Amino acid sequence: MRCNQSFTLKSNQATLEEFERQRAPFTQRDGAACRNSSCVNHGLVNLDCYQSFGKSRGGSARYRCKACKQTFTVPQRATLRQRHPEVNELVLNLLVNKMPMRRICEVADVQPAVLYSRIHFFHKQAIRFVVDRERALQERLSFQKLRIAVDRQDHTFNWASSADRRNTKLSATGSADCDSGYVFGIELDFDSARNPFEVDLHAREIGDYELTGPFRRYAQFFLPGDEELGKAVPAGVALAEEGTKLPASGLRIHAEYVLMGHFQFLRWLMPNVGAFDFYLDQEPNIRGAFLAACLDLVAQKRADAYFVRIGKELTIDERKLAVAHSETYLSGLKKQYPTLTRRQIAHEVMKQRYLQVRKSETNAANRWVTSILPHMGEPLKEVSCLTDWGDDDVDRIAGGMLSASLHPIDRFFMLLRRRVSLLERPIASASSGHRTWYGYSAYNPEIAQKIMGLFRVIYNYSMTGKDGRTPAMRLGLAEKPIPHKEILGSGSFNAR
Ligand SMILES: [Zn+2]
Repeated sequence: MRCNQSFTLKSNQATLEEFERQRAPFTQRDGAACRNSSCVNHGLVNLDCYQSFGKSRGGSARYRCKACKQTFTVPQRATLRQRHPEVNELVLNLLVNKMPMRRICEVADVQPAVLYSRIHFFHKQAIRFVVDRERALQERLSFQKLRIAVDRQDHTFNWASSADRRNTKLSATGSADCDSGYVFGIELDFDSARNPFEVDLHAREIGDYELTGPFRRYAQFFLPGDEELGKAVPAGVALAEEGTKLPASGLRIHAEYVLMGHFQFLRWLMPNVGAFDFYLDQEPNIRGAFLAACLDLVAQKRADAYFVRIGKELTIDERKLAVAHSETYLSGLKKQYPTLTRRQIAHEVMKQRYLQVRKSETNAANRWVTSILPHMGEPLKEVSCLTDWGDDDVDRIAGGMLSASLHPIDRFFMLLRRRVSLLERPIASASSGHRTWYGYSAYNPEIAQKIMGLFRVIYNYSMTGKDGRTPAMRLGLAEKPIPHKEILGSGSFNAR
């Protein structure tokens, strides 16, 4: 295999840890651990050690330990200790319909602390729901080819204190299936479970700060100690963007590790896929991350990656013109070749355009081909293939280019911004005499992270498109749209 691309060194350990973080909902469940004190799995919260074993009469999930074969149940007392479970559905509806948090508190008549605890609860329930569904991707469903759009969206957290008014910038990586629109993941580059103080202390102890990026024990994180004024930072270590600061709790993760972890997660989640096409935005580290995570598939010709760039800045009139130009050109060809379908003609056009540019351009990423099938959302679409080492099947690449799009994930990102009031001002709690509730505000990335995860589930399972179907129905994970209350835990709303 010839390859003119350079690889940046990455830490395997850090990539593995990030992959484990992303798949944790599948491998961990509160209370799911073997109760047999003489068993090797005793107390181990890792679902890999257990197999699903039906339900108890009360509806709780039952598991069987793979080591000692004993069974145990994990209670599903979803709404226990909540005094007004009926408020849940209302709050959730408001939350995903652009209601600012402080208005939700007024309308639903709840205190901010209650609202935030509900968000944690909704998220937990939604993750349980979706994990149960998505197991079918591992066990039941198979795909000849999946085309997946991957993109990032930046979020600014105005989580200021009076001492330091700089914002925190984080970004979310998302992936969506181009055919069904199903969103496989939305991952903020933020690990809320890590304590920056403890990690900083340990990093100093083991000499992490003297090492270049990939050789560090904590290679995947932005370490607080690198931000010290006037300190020389070793190679391969990134700092927070000029004028921004790192999160005050939790640790920010380097985007390339989020990406590598996510590509590995997708492969793990969907083992029964013949081949992948990945459509990527031109981000600095995205190509390296893709190749690091999928090189074996690329070598087997089972994964291709494409850069997609679109004329986002065009006006409506310019968009119409661009689309019309392509249409005119295509219908001209259709008259010339009446026996061919529109798709076949478009395919042939892409192939010829690609062969032309491949002759003159040696760097695969720079072999831009203008798409013959633009639409108003992506009016001037240009595509390049990152995985053609010069000897590749041009029909495969032309087909990949013809379907290339970032629209499925960008539509999700657009709705996330439109429907969820994430970045509003913090709530002044009445009981604290109008002091601002910084600790739990939406400025806290952890709350935003949970709302994003929750919104992914609602988007996939509850929100129907023009065809009356949800992304989950199109992918084969659901037979009908799922009401919010079912996502939050069936039946629990009738109690009391
Ligand atoms: Zn056991």
